[in-house]
Amino acid sequence: DYELSEADPEVREIINKEKERQFKSLELIASENFTSRAVMEAVGSCLTNKYSEGLPGKRYYGGNEHIDELETLCQKRALAAFHLDEKKWGVNVQPLSGSPANFEVYTAIMNPHDRIMGLDLPHGGHLSHGFMTPKRRVSGTSIYFESMPYRLDESTGLVDYDMLEKTAILFRPKLIIAGASAYPRDFDYPRMRKWLTTWHWKIADAVGAFLMMDMAHISGLVAASVVADPFEYCDIVTTTTHKSLRGPRGGMIFFRKDPILGVDLESAINNAVFPGLQGGPHNHTIGGLAVCLKHAQSPQFKAYQDKVVSNCRALAGRLIELGYKLVSGGSDNHLVLVDMRPMGIDGARAEKILDMASITLNKNSVPGDKSALVPGGIRIGSPAMTTRGFTEKEFVAVADFIHEGVQITLEAKKLVKGSKLQDFMKFVTSSDFSLMNKVSD
Ligand code: PLP
Repeated sequence: DYELSEADPEVREIINKEKERQFKSLELIASENFTSRAVMEAVGSCLTNKYSEGLPGKRYYGGNEHIDELETLCQKRALAAFHLDEKKWGVNVQPLSGSPANFEVYTAIMNPHDRIMGLDLPHGGHLSHGFMTPKRRVSGTSIYFESMPYRLDESTGLVDYDMLEKTAILFRPKLIIAGASAYPRDFDYPRMRKWLTTWHWKIADAVGAFLMMDMAHISGLVAASVVADPFEYCDIVTTTTHKSLRGPRGGMIFFRKDPILGVDLESAINNAVFPGLQGGPHNHTIGGLAVCLKHAQSPQFKAYQDKVVSNCRALAGRLIELGYKLVSGGSDNHLVLVDMRPMGIDGARAEKILDMASITLNKNSVPGDKSALVPGGIRIGSPAMTTRGFTEKEFVAVADFIHEGVQITLEAKKLVKGSKLQDFMKFVTSSDFSLMNKVSD
């Protein structure tokens, strides 16, 4: 048995280079984070060797006594980390990642071609919430289910709940999905759930739909109670585990134990995960997740999440001072969405130039974008650099660096006007390649 450097120096070298890139760049991608050494130790352990199809105590393979102990511990910690009563809520910790977790929920509670409503991708939603273009059903969710996205009110940058309600009453979806990949504000769960007043519908109940929250981006903030609690109002909550939560790459599905709309969510969801869509759980990931969920109950984790939010506010404040327009005017969570169009630049160019200066963030659609191919905004997140110890002061400096990068881009744009480089940039930003970059985020 050899060390990696001996067994495969080529892969070792690639890992070394990636480690250096991560170390040297300003990591501002809102969906990324640096997990802990303890999580990585569990993920790189012998747990990866074991097959354990099934659930604790009900496996299709022998030799699972320790894996049973691990998965049960992980489930208990997951419920504790999100302040859930074990009698009312259950959790499946086996989903391989966020998109499979969502698809597993859909197949658990719906038949093919049942109707769903999620936030439209160009308005901040995720591919797996039913994205399609006018020409193409892009995501498996929109291929196997009928999707009618809801959108933001373009004048405020906030979810247009009035329109969602009107559309839901006509479309009568089986599932309404809260949650997003690029939305800087809290969702209004009570509004999405029940009666607002005796005469006004609240959306999911009015149409007899399940309400699910995909809290992938903000699960760390939810665990630390620094944003609104989706569990109070939702039937099902899904999440990735590697974003603000700082765990290994993976997914979880939380479900109410009481039957909802006549469906026993516990068995429907567990069966959808295995044998419905997955085989053997990734036990090394479940090990890493258990470690992360222990940490998520600590005072240090709460302090970290507080800083994620205050750092993001400092970044937002400075960008506004520098004259940038933020979608919704600011942020309640870990990300800001900057509309670059008033600056005379698009998100694709800004991303490229900033990348050259080791500032890693991503281009993003903003409401009102004419073309989905050349998005007008950038998304900036605070979790990763907060993990690396940045405070508000450093995030103000980050805003200044971004501004400097944008100024240089504007200068460069003047210089390249009419040159071959301009044609090349047009090609890069209008090709399918650029669309794939955008939608795969
Ligand atoms: N849900 C949301 C809201 C996301 O932002 C993402 C990824 O960014 C996912 C789900 C998908 O997660 P994964 O990439 O792990 O499949």
